[in-house]
Amino acid sequence: MPGHLQSIVSLHTTLTELTEADQRLHSIPDWMSDLHAEHSERKAAIDAVEAEGAAADQERREAEATLADAQETQKRYQEQLGKVSTQREYGALLTEIDTTKAQIAESEQKALEAAERKEQSDAKLVELRDDFRDLDERYNAELAKWESEKPSVAAAIEDLTRRSQELREEVPRNVLMLFDRLHERLGGAALARVRKTELSRGNAMWHCEACSYNVRPQVLVEIRNHGSLNQCDSCKRILYWDDEE
Ligand SMILES: [Zn+2]
Repeated sequence: MPGHLQSIVSLHTTLTELTEADQRLHSIPDWMSDLHAEHSERKAAIDAVEAEGAAADQERREAEATLADAQETQKRYQEQLGKVSTQREYGALLTEIDTTKAQIAESEQKALEAAERKEQSDAKLVELRDDFRDLDERYNAELAKWESEKPSVAAAIEDLTRRSQELREEVPRNVLMLFDRLHERLGGAALARVRKTELSRGNAMWHCEACSYNVRPQVLVEIRNHGSLNQCDSCKRILYWDDEE
């Protein structure tokens, strides 16, 4: 398969750049990742305290509802107290009243404790939010910066996609199939550079940069002089020669 190596190398480069651009567009950029982690952590802490406060508030409301019911019951019992006729009924009613009194005391205590907890969590929230403000502003500024960079990355992706389509059209189908298969199987690393190792007395050896397997001189000549497609005998990557070597 002579002559298509240059297109394949260009396609490989284009696809690598495309993957990088895609990652840049869809993940938190490196320069933001520390800030993002800190922001998420502090935000989660605030959310947790908020949830605690909401739970305490809910508990207080429930305790107050129980309290109101118990007070109502208590009132009814007190009214009945004047109407009972036997000592036994009177005793039984007093027992009920005692039970209700205990319920009232318990509910009052619960409501008070829950209200105190809510107050504490509110105070803590004020403190956390105060501390968070600077970080949040910084984070939002960085986020805006990132957003402003996105259109140019998206445009680069469009260019690279078009370029890769053009390159694909330059290459025969069977070559493309080989490349695509390797590209997929090797996670985008379908190509390997040939490396030169100087030996004594002006001799040299060549090998595949990916797996270190030897590359025969004849293969190197085909790659360099004819742009032929040759795969490494061991890892099957398509070999190319970098003129800077
Ligand atoms: Zn190899």
